[in-house]
Amino acid sequence: MYRKCTSLASTNQHKALALEALGRCLLSSKKYREAYKVYDELSARYGQFLNKAGHPYGILAAFQQYEIEQRRKREESSLKIFLSLYEKIRNGVWLITLPTYDFFIVEIESILDDKFSEGRFPEIRESYLALQKQQSSYLEKLLFTDFLKREAVPKIKEKLTLSRMRGEAKPGRLLAAQKEDFCLVSYNILPNFQPAKTFYGGFCWDLICLKKEIFPKILENLTRESGISLQVIDERGRNILTGKEELISKDSLSLSYRQFPFPWKLLVSQPAFSDLERTARRENFLYGILLTFIVALMLMGAFLIVRDISRESETTRLKTEFVHNISHELKTPLTLIRLYGETLQRKEDLKKDEKKEAYEIITKESERLSHLINNVLDFSRIEMGRKEFDFKKGSLAQVVRDTLESYRYHLEKKGFSIKKEITSDLPEMNFDGEAIASVLVNLLSNAMKFSPKIKEVTVKLFKDDGNAVLQVADKGIGISPKDTSRIFSRFYRVKNEIVSDSGGSGLGLTLVKHIAEAHGGRINVESEPGKGSIFSVILPLSGPKKG
Ligand code: ADP
Repeated sequence: MYRKCTSLASTNQHKALALEALGRCLLSSKKYREAYKVYDELSARYGQFLNKAGHPYGILAAFQQYEIEQRRKREESSLKIFLSLYEKIRNGVWLITLPTYDFFIVEIESILDDKFSEGRFPEIRESYLALQKQQSSYLEKLLFTDFLKREAVPKIKEKLTLSRMRGEAKPGRLLAAQKEDFCLVSYNILPNFQPAKTFYGGFCWDLICLKKEIFPKILENLTRESGISLQVIDERGRNILTGKEELISKDSLSLSYRQFPFPWKLLVSQPAFSDLERTARRENFLYGILLTFIVALMLMGAFLIVRDISRESETTRLKTEFVHNISHELKTPLTLIRLYGETLQRKEDLKKDEKKEAYEIITKESERLSHLINNVLDFSRIEMGRKEFDFKKGSLAQVVRDTLESYRYHLEKKGFSIKKEITSDLPEMNFDGEAIASVLVNLLSNAMKFSPKIKEVTVKLFKDDGNAVLQVADKGIGISPKDTSRIFSRFYRVKNEIVSDSGGSGLGLTLVKHIAEAHGGRINVESEPGKGSIFSVILPLSGPKKG
């Protein structure tokens, strides 16, 4: 009869009802196989339809099939049916309400838990437990809908009624309690969707993302730009980001959010005084250092300028003095040469001795002249960078001996006694003979000029630690320690009263130093005022360095 009803029924709802009744009949008359098939059909065709109690036929059919398999003692198959039903309900195959969902899920879970308690069918149990662990997306949706119905919709309605009364329906935001937290809902009326009904559109804010991702970044930027410290706190004064209680001092300000109905406040406070003090101290220190540095730079600049100016004026003075000295130096021998030349020319009756003296004076003065002019020429070549040396291998001792011999006449003429200690174990070395001769002549001429009382000159040449040392010592006026470093500078001459008419250009020692250095060597002076001086020219035996 029920089968007939099934085919006769005009609506699907009735067809489903008839099928369900047919299944029941077959089940009670123990026609399990047929009953099973009927429930398969019911589930496939009318699974989504609801019975009178409001439960989908799909779920009821599965329950019945479970029952059939139980009666047929097909335990495993019955459990599989339940497991599949459990999965389908959780995945939202049937659009059921939250109480219906809870009812079926609790029912199935209690039966399955009971069945699996004896440890049978471990594989099915495993799948059941895995399923149970997964979050049910449908349940979440159900809960959310429930939340909207309970918390959000009434408030939205209330607000919209109020705003309608004021003649405007504005979009808005509201805060609704959800579980133990809050949910911020933004909503608006959807325009003219269906004239008879009002539809609301809206969304829920992800407050967790807001707290964890957005707030920290915004606060950090603001703190960096403004230098003030900012915290978001809840009603209990706890920082919502860290969960710690914030110290709310009387200097801090707490602000509510105007645009958003957040249950939080913004706590604005000055950084701790010690922080400010530390920053100020650090800045003071930095500025202090900078200022000191600038002042030091300025002082150094001023010092350099003053030094430059005084050097410049000293050089100008020395140059003027040089011109004066050199003119004087040129004038004396020239006058003498002219005087004795004219005498020889005019007076023909001169005695032999007188003639000899005149010739000697002319020769001596012209030698003095050429020595002076040679020094000036050498100096100008050095200054222009054009002085060239002619290094040749030879015996240094021989050059020293020859030069000394040719100068001996002048020295003895002026009453000097000469001692010489010239070693003969010096190897042949590379040097410029003329330059070395000029070194010796300059040193001897100085020794002569600056020894007014004890007229003793010692010339030594010896080997010392890979060097050849040419030494000229005198027992003259000596040089004070403050002048010893300066006598090698160009034009420099020590002012002294003892030897007032010493004559000279201030270039001799400059040349000596330059020649010694060109040979890869150096010059050294040991002197004590009133006792004499020792000038040592130290030349490496290996000769001047190439290049
Ligand atoms: P010059 O002899 O033409 O003045 P130098 O360059 O040879 O120039 O010497 C520079 C200065 O060094 C001299 O003016 C002199 O004051 C000092 N001096 C050089 N040699 C001696 C020396 N043997 N004894 C004392 N003073 C010396």
